[in-house]
Parts: sequence; structure tokens; C-alpha cells
Amino acid sequence: MVHIQLESLEKYAKENHVPIMLKDGINYLTDYIKKNNIQNILEIGSAIGYSAIKMALVNENIKVTTIEKNKTMYEIALKNINNFNLSSQICILNEDALDVDIVDKYDLIFIDAAKSQYIKFFNKFKDNLTANGVIITDNLNFHGLVKDDSNCSRNTRQLVRKIRNYITFLKENTEFKTEFIELGDGISVSKKSEL
Ligand code: SAH
Ligand code: MG
Repeated sequence: MVHIQLESLEKYAKENHVPIMLKDGINYLTDYIKKNNIQNILEIGSAIGYSAIKMALVNENIKVTTIEKNKTMYEIALKNINNFNLSSQICILNEDALDVDIVDKYDLIFIDAAKSQYIKFFNKFKDNLTANGVIITDNLNFHGLVKDDSNCSRNTRQLVRKIRNYITFLKENTEFKTEFIELGDGISVSKKSEL
């Protein structure tokens, strides 16, 4: 039943060009949650709630707070979360993540929103990590364009430049150690460096 419901979300996303996580990427993320016994998750960018739902389904002790600024997306996500009976596990906020004040601490912060703002999201939310917490970011390949953007419009190249800046920012960040995973659309896994 859940399987069919998930397939229908995937189909909806495809038909409506909603950029939900790719299969390999979401599998990596849910495996990571399982292996590392992650319980509290903050997600930036819910879209239709697909990744939040996939993460919450890993086990019933997991709590996800997810932030979505687009009203329409928020409403669709809320409906989907209710359809999966996950409203006790997933809390969704209709806010711009850069404006909202979050005080809780999380084992995992998943950044999957506006690519131009990745450094801002990282710096804003790193203080919401638990001691062994991890920040995972999606879309570092940006559909292969980070490697080669020679056929792109100017606007797209701007965005690609921002993602490259974020990758450099992660590589040069001494406070965090980042691993880059070539799965899905490119994922980074950043953990606080050992002191
Ligand atoms: N994580 C989802 C996909 C998210 S797509 C999944 O894999 O299922 C990115 C979403 O981030 C979009 O819906 C967009 O509206 C939202 N977004 C972009 N900038 C944001 C911001 N500053 N705050 C909150 N949400 C934002
Ligand atoms: Mg994504």
C-alpha cells in the first residue's frame, strides 16, 4: 500500500516537474539514517513532501521538521503527509528557511532548497546540529552542469557558479569535514571535524 502511494508521488513529481530526490540519492539518505540511528531531522525544502515521507518511513521513532516557502507546495506536502498518516512524525512549516528561527538540535540537517542559497543555509543551521550531527546537501552536480555548463544560459551558469562556490566552501571549511558522494544528483555529507 505504502509502496503504491510512494509510486504515485514519484509519478506526480515527474509529471509536474517537481525536482524530488533521485532514486539512488534517496536510497543513500535513508540507508544513512538507518545505519547511523538518526532520530531528529531538519529538512530545508519539502516540495511535495516526498523525501520527508521517505525519511520518516525508515522507522516510527524518527521525527522530521521540514520547511517549505512555497504555499502551493506546502499545501500539497501537508496533504501527502496526512495521507501517509505521518502527521505525528513530520512537522511542516510554510516559511522561508532563511527567515525562520529554529532552536532545536538535529542529528541530520538535509539541505535541498534554492541552490543559490546553500552557503547561507549551511551557516544558518550548523548551530542546530547535535555534537555528532551531519549536514547532507543534494544536487551538487546539478544534472551534470557543474562539470560542464558550456551549453547553458547565463542564468543557469550563475546558478552553477553558486554551486561550485558551495563545493569550494565545503572543501575549505575547517570546522567540517565533507565527503562527496557520486549518487543521484551528487550529495555531500559534512560532519564536524574532530577537535
Ligand atoms: N526535498 C524534496 C525536494 C525539494 S525541491 C524532495 O526530494 O522530495 C526544493 C524546494 O525548496 C522547492 O519546493 C522550493 O519551493 C523550496 N525552497 C526554495 N528556497 C527555499 C527557502 N529559502 N526556504 C524554504 N523552502 C525553499
Ligand atoms: Mg534535490
